[in-house]
Amino acid sequence: MLIDTHAHLNAPQFDEDRQQVIERAQQNGIRRIINVGFNRETIPSSIALAEQYDFIYSTVGWHPTDAKDMLPEDLEWLESLCRHEKVVAIGEIGLDYYWDTSPKDVQDRVFREQIRLARKVGMPIVIHNRDAHHDVVQTLREEKAAEVGGVMHCYSGSWETAKLCLDMNFYISFGGPVTFKNARQPKEVLQHVPLDRLLIETDAPYLAPHPYRGKRNESSYVRLVAETAAEIKGISVEELAEITTRNAMAFFRLK
Ligand SMILES: [Zn+2]
Ligand SMILES: [Zn+2]
Repeated sequence: MLIDTHAHLNAPQFDEDRQQVIERAQQNGIRRIINVGFNRETIPSSIALAEQYDFIYSTVGWHPTDAKDMLPEDLEWLESLCRHEKVVAIGEIGLDYYWDTSPKDVQDRVFREQIRLARKVGMPIVIHNRDAHHDVVQTLREEKAAEVGGVMHCYSGSWETAKLCLDMNFYISFGGPVTFKNARQPKEVLQHVPLDRLLIETDAPYLAPHPYRGKRNESSYVRLVAETAAEIKGISVEELAEITTRNAMAFFRLK
């Protein structure tokens, strides 16, 4: 049994065969999927998917690349959606200095507003961080994110930064990139992350693991991430699956 803790199965890349992709995940032992809604378009379609399938849950949040589009009423909308029975976390939220499609000060404000919302409603947060390690950690600290806890999704930073996140009660999640042959740093960080703070994900349709690198990713491929993680940790895939599943159930408070 495995859980894909971060997917975008509502993305248009799955419009032709969404049903088959979801069935394939079930056939491969993926027992829960956390689907991530991150702006005005993807939040309703993510929740709709969670309503359609028992074993799919949804997050709601405003992605840093879309930060400039978030209006005050959107924050109220997010708050009202937190009461939905299939909504399990606020995310993905954070900072993205790579695409730089929203000014940094706007990203900062939108990030902080959503951490405050998470503390208000008592929900964990899913963090997107691209080339902004220092500012993300500092903001999480200043806004007391440790109170609700969170996950660093598709983690790509150093072990030093990971340690700071672990100190704040955070989980570290790994996706397809950790399976790449040349992924020295993610493999090294994974080796150090305590098993009880480890999560796995796909981020489908993006970042497909080896040997599908560059192709469309899907939830059933989380098994390949699990295999790599088990190898690095020196435990069986079954054991790794059991531990990461237990972590995900606890973190997202799933039944
Ligand atoms: Zn992301
Ligand atoms: Zn994502």
